[in-house]
Amino acid sequence: MSTLKIAVQKSGRLNEDSIKLLKNCGIRIENGKDQLKASAANFPLDVLYLRNGDIPQYVEDGVADIAIVGENLLVETGNDVEVVRKLGFSKCKLSLAVPKDTNYPGPEFFEGKKIATSYPNTVKQYMEKVGVKTEVHVIKGSVEIAPNIGLAEGICDLVSSGSTLFKNGLVEKDIILQSEAVLVKNKNLTAEQEELLETILFRLDAVQKGEKSKYVLMNAPNDKVDEIIKVLPGMKSPTVVPLAEEGWSSVHTVMEESKFWEVIDQLKGAGAEGLLIVPIEKMVL
Ligand code: AMP
Repeated sequence: MSTLKIAVQKSGRLNEDSIKLLKNCGIRIENGKDQLKASAANFPLDVLYLRNGDIPQYVEDGVADIAIVGENLLVETGNDVEVVRKLGFSKCKLSLAVPKDTNYPGPEFFEGKKIATSYPNTVKQYMEKVGVKTEVHVIKGSVEIAPNIGLAEGICDLVSSGSTLFKNGLVEKDIILQSEAVLVKNKNLTAEQEELLETILFRLDAVQKGEKSKYVLMNAPNDKVDEIIKVLPGMKSPTVVPLAEEGWSSVHTVMEESKFWEVIDQLKGAGAEGLLIVPIEKMVL
């Protein structure tokens, strides 16, 4: 029987969330991350713990069949792999930043100047697109110190909360790309491997839908129930069950959390009381 090999970051920002995601998909991984390879106990999946920067190449070469990586890395390496799902975590931006108080009219600021980055290919592509000739200085880590030590006039780096830039007296100016963790696959999987991947994607979709949605319960007098149902943007028809107290019902539905905040005032206005919002672990439609 065929086995699928998934590459995940050995260490770094994506590692923990990647393992958590597999676990949420009901895949139990036996060994710790100190090992290079672990096998799932209840699914034909091997987990390869690899160095982040190497992962896209391993997937292109078929050493790993699928992988969880940051989109920013795929853009930088340009490997020929296929993105099958956005995973919604490790969201960040790859941005141009300069010391605060710098007069920055736009990317043309960098014309004839130096820019420090760990993402030279992405920066060069961007600068070519905007028609700016700049000198790219590659640094592997702590890019944000480059302007302070006179190595470059500005940087291009990943920004998440922005606190690293702030601490180093830098200001984000232009966003080159938005990134998040994605699931990628090798383009030549066998039919059996594609089937295994489909099973994982089915579970993943159930987890992602569950994460976005909430189970919402509320009480209301019976004569208000119709009005409340009109406001609810639920999956299907809500459940209405009588309460022990005469003349009252409990209304249950499932909705996206963002929608809930849009309709909360309308629900209260329509007579809903005692609202409960409960997390959903998985959702299969
Ligand atoms: P922050 O201070 O939260 O803006 O994070 C910036 C620092 O974390 C920089 O050193 C970035 O290179 C790194 N970083 C931010 N987001 C990510 C990410 N999604 N993946 C890898 N490194 C990141």
